[in-house]
Amino acid sequence: METKVNLRRNFLAFGATAAVAAIAALTAGSALAQAVYPSRPISLVVPFAAGGPTDVVARTLGQFMSKTLGQPVVVENKLGAGGTVAANYVSKAAPDGYTLLIHHNGMATSTALYRKLPYNPLTDFEYISQAVDVPMTLLARKDFPANNFQEFAAYVKSHQATMNLGNAGLGAVSQLCGMMLERSMGVKLTSVPFSGTAPAMNALLGGQIDILCDQTTQTIPQIKGGGVKFYGVTTRNRIKALPDAPTLSEQGLKDFEVIVWHGIYAPKGTPKAVVDKVNAAVRAALKEPDVLKRMAELGAEIAPDSKLSPEGLQTWLKAEIDRWGPIIKAGGTYAD
Ligand code: ASP
Repeated sequence: METKVNLRRNFLAFGATAAVAAIAALTAGSALAQAVYPSRPISLVVPFAAGGPTDVVARTLGQFMSKTLGQPVVVENKLGAGGTVAANYVSKAAPDGYTLLIHHNGMATSTALYRKLPYNPLTDFEYISQAVDVPMTLLARKDFPANNFQEFAAYVKSHQATMNLGNAGLGAVSQLCGMMLERSMGVKLTSVPFSGTAPAMNALLGGQIDILCDQTTQTIPQIKGGGVKFYGVTTRNRIKALPDAPTLSEQGLKDFEVIVWHGIYAPKGTPKAVVDKVNAAVRAALKEPDVLKRMAELGAEIAPDSKLSPEGLQTWLKAEIDRWGPIIKAGGTYAD
């Protein structure tokens, strides 16, 4: 009896020691993994098609982030459902810093647009940083019969039943801008969704769609090249990259304002040391002269310092969910 009890006690003591040792080994292992992070390429998931505005920002950042991180940052385009396929994918990836997401305002607007979002932007991610703020531009196909915004507004009002508007799906900023445009002009157009605004731009250039609202990061070269008609920018004030272009609000769409912000996220549970390393790499990339030059040419502004911390992104995202939720719900646009 005595022996049995002792044996059991010894066994339990051994079990406890082994468990402590295992936890210590695991902790040491993950501390080591964090210390050597990154030891292999990092995937930066982009929710839209290659060559489009989000992709351009991701590739520019990724190229320079890899200088600090010492490993390639490889862009992976995961398309579908206005960006929600990519966000869902990253929310369920291993929280080890090797799968990151770059997403724009869609991270906030999707919560109101989708009744059953398979992830929660406020609880399923670690927040790394914001990056750049990008204006949008209102465009039409080259042969659109309107040479200024007043003509555009009059034509759209009288032909709305037969006109269409391209976008990158429910949750895309092109969809958000289009929805705001329809609402402020009091019209309803047919929406044509694409996997990103790179293919939507091709359709506009080919004359298959009538209107597209898209970021300057893709549209400035097309505007300057004269391949599209251009009616104004979506910012409150005129922008440096297109100094002669009027804003939509100064042309009659009072208070019209859509600015595209970009956040970088990791799956929930990614160690803080890893988040901090990626944050430092984003900040360093945003100081690179080549990045500053390219972003300025494309109309993008580096996000202010207050948005570049993990807390800055988290607070901003929450505020954007609160801002857009009621506007979208009032419009009655949503998907299951
Ligand atoms: N501009 C797109 C949007 O409307 C996304 C993209 O293709 O980058 O959200």
